[in-house]
Amino acid sequence: MRTKDNNKPQWQPATITIHGGKTRDEHGALVAPLYQTATFSFENTAQGSARFAGEEAGYIYSRLGNPTVTELEQRVAALEGYPAAAAAATGMGAVSASMMAFLAHGDHVLVSDAIYGCSFALFSHLFTRFGIQVDFVDMSDLEKTASAMRDNTKLVFLESPVNPHLKVIDIAAVAKIAHTKGARLVVDNTFMTPLLQQPKLQGADLVLHSATKYLNGHGDVVAGIVCGSQEDIELIKLTTLKDMGATMSPHDAWLILRGLKTLDVRMERHCTNAVQVAEYLREQPLVKTIFFPGFADHPAQQLMGTQMHGAGAVIAFELHGDLNTARLLLDSLQLITIAVSLGDAETLIQHPASMTHSPYSPEARAAAGISDTLIRISVGLEAVSDIIADLEQAFAACTNSNTQNNEEQVKYG
Ligand SMILES: *Cc1c(COP(=O)(O)O)cnc(C)c1O
Repeated sequence: MRTKDNNKPQWQPATITIHGGKTRDEHGALVAPLYQTATFSFENTAQGSARFAGEEAGYIYSRLGNPTVTELEQRVAALEGYPAAAAAATGMGAVSASMMAFLAHGDHVLVSDAIYGCSFALFSHLFTRFGIQVDFVDMSDLEKTASAMRDNTKLVFLESPVNPHLKVIDIAAVAKIAHTKGARLVVDNTFMTPLLQQPKLQGADLVLHSATKYLNGHGDVVAGIVCGSQEDIELIKLTTLKDMGATMSPHDAWLILRGLKTLDVRMERHCTNAVQVAEYLREQPLVKTIFFPGFADHPAQQLMGTQMHGAGAVIAFELHGDLNTARLLLDSLQLITIAVSLGDAETLIQHPASMTHSPYSPEARAAAGISDTLIRISVGLEAVSDIIADLEQAFAACTNSNTQNNEEQVKYG
C-alpha cells in the first residue's frame, strides 16, 4: 500500500469528505477496506518488538490502532483542519478520554453552563469524585467567564450552538480567555460539523464530535472523534483512550467513512429544510417561542460568516398550552419520528421535559429553561413539503382538541 498526499490543504471541504486522508489499497479498491480484525500478525519476533518499541510503524492490536479507523481519523482531522484525530467508541468516549488525558487531582476545569446532558453528568458527578474542580459558567458572558478562570484551570469546555435554546458562544473570545491562563480550549462541534464551523480557526485546541450525529448521518452507529495537535492526540491515544478502552470498532469507522462522503450535500439539504421548517413554525399561532440561530434577530447572526457558516438544522420551540399540548402535538405526527438524537436522514422530534431532561427535578428543569411545552426537532432530509404537511396536520389536531376543551368548558361552565 502507498499513501498519497491526500491532505491537500487547498481542497474544499466537500472534496476532503470524499478524498481526505485516503490510503491506496493494494488491489486498488475504490472504497477503504474494512479491516475487521482484533490483532495483527508479526513476521517474526524482531518485527513484533520493533513495533512495540515504536521503532517500526505498523499495527499491533485494534485497541491501539486499526487501518480503517486510521483512515477515518485522517479524514476528520483534515476536515477540522488539525494534523491528527483519535476515534472513540461514542461521543462520550471522546469527551471523557480527551478530558481525562489532561486533568489530574487538584486541577480546575471551566465548563459552559449549557452543555450536552451526559457531558454535564461527567463533569459534575464523576470528575468531582476524583478531586477535579469544576465550575459552570454562562460563556455568553465573557466577563463572568474571564473571572471564573483560576491559576489551576487546565481546560475550558464549551459547545456552540447549545441545546436546548441554541445559544451561541463566541469561541474566539473564550479561546483568548483560556489561553491567557495557559488552558486548553475544547469545543464540542457536533451540532455544526466542520462544514458549518471550524473552531480551530477561532483558536480551539481540541475539537470533538459525537460522530453518531451528522458525521455519520445515517443513524446506524454510536461513535465519537476528537481532533487536535499531533502531540495532544498521541497523548489521548496512548493514555486514556488506550487504557480506558473506549476505542472505535473498525466496522463503525467503515460506516462513518461511507456516511461522511455525503456530508456536504446532506448539510446543504438539512440547512435549507431547517430554514423553511423554522419559518413555518414561527407563523403557527400555537407556537409561543422559537429558537433558531438562522433567524435575523438571533444573537448568532453576529457570528454568522465568521465563526458560523450556517444555522444548522436543530430547532427548539415552545407551545402555548401545557404538557398535554406538547404530548398531543408529538403523538399526532405521522412522518416525523419521536426519538432523541439528531443529524439523521429522518426528521426526529423529542420532548426534553419528559425525555432527555426527565431526570432533572422540576425546579432544575425550570432553572435550565426547559418548560413543559419545549420541543426539539432535528430537521431531516425528507422533502420539506412533507415535513411541513405533517406538522400542519398535528397542529390542526391540537387546535381541534383545544376547541373541544373550550366547548366543554363553556358547556359545563
Ligand atoms: C449526542 C451528543 C454527545 C454524546 O455523543 P454519543 O455519541 O451519544 O456518546 C455529545 N455532545 C453532543 C452535543 C451530542 O449531541
